[in-house]
Amino acid sequence: MAIARTLDLARLVRPDFAALPAYPAPESASDLAAELGIPLERLVKLDQNENPHGCSPKVREALARFDRYNIYPDILATEVRTLLSGYVGAPADQIIVGNGSDELVDLLLRVLVQPGDKVITWGPTFSYYAGAVAVCGAQYVDIPRGRDFEIDVDKALAVADERTKLFILCNPNNPSANLTPVADIRRLLDTGLIVLLDEAYAEFSGTASTALMAEYENLAILRTFSKWAGLAGLRIGYGLFPRALVPLLLKVKPPFNVNVAAQEAAKASLHDLDYLRHTVGLIVAERERLLEVLPKLPVFSKVYPSCTNFILCEVAGGDGRGLCNWLAKKGILLRHFDSPALRRFIRITVGTRDQND
Ligand SMILES: *Cc1c(COP(=O)(O)O)cnc(C)c1O
Repeated sequence: MAIARTLDLARLVRPDFAALPAYPAPESASDLAAELGIPLERLVKLDQNENPHGCSPKVREALARFDRYNIYPDILATEVRTLLSGYVGAPADQIIVGNGSDELVDLLLRVLVQPGDKVITWGPTFSYYAGAVAVCGAQYVDIPRGRDFEIDVDKALAVADERTKLFILCNPNNPSANLTPVADIRRLLDTGLIVLLDEAYAEFSGTASTALMAEYENLAILRTFSKWAGLAGLRIGYGLFPRALVPLLLKVKPPFNVNVAAQEAAKASLHDLDYLRHTVGLIVAERERLLEVLPKLPVFSKVYPSCTNFILCEVAGGDGRGLCNWLAKKGILLRHFDSPALRRFIRITVGTRDQND
């Protein structure tokens, strides 16, 4: 070939990548703290559904004791999976641990989806799915949710065709905080397509679909340590998958996807369930208090019910971004959205009592 030292992106990069949506990065908390001249921990950071109580103290103890950072992590995270099996009540050989549950969305899509295939979901929902589907070159079919953000199963069944591989259902849904009835989930499962339930907030809703695993061969469920266990920064989540898919998923999984610190932290968390259930209880109690108080504030035209650790509010006047920017100047970070369907809303993570006040 002729010598050329320039980078011909148009020839080298996949043509469909130019149109990929960027993941909406939240404002940088440390930039804002520096701008306001306050320490980072003084910010009231309620924009990413993180756990304001932090992780279990047993995690800090375990990591302080741990001294095998020179050794590669267990590829299969066997001890974590054994403990998880007891925690969720599903067989360990159906559990795969990921670098956050986000990674497991990717793994499953890469195993199932080819360019031209369809993936069906109901929006507004977790924005990560759209990008992950686009990377596979597949069509992301986004069926609009109803007035109370309920899903339309009939529409999904009508749209599903021979190119459709799976449904992705965020349950409870982020950002609308509502649950989908089991009867609807069963109708999706009865199609025989894969149904991926993202149950990142199961601990806050007190409901989980794990019992359905024994009944359906086409169900996959994602859970995470990021929210209820306060480990968002360490990146560890897990999925319950159909047994037949597990060997295929393991072929795609990067071998050392979950680092040793995250595995130690997950084990320590699962040995301290009483503590974590206590902090989940504090968050749920504060959520109920906020659900009483927020509707009385004239700034909101509607406050939606929640069975998660966050609350979706419709802003009177409809400028979610404006409200968030105004609050950011006071050191309070909430989440706004740029999509037309969500511009009127903000999402508030339930914080500590002080933060909520
Ligand atoms: C926060 C969140 C997750 C968690 O992702 P991790 O990669 O495990 O941190 C997954 N799904 C939804 C809907 C979320 O809101």
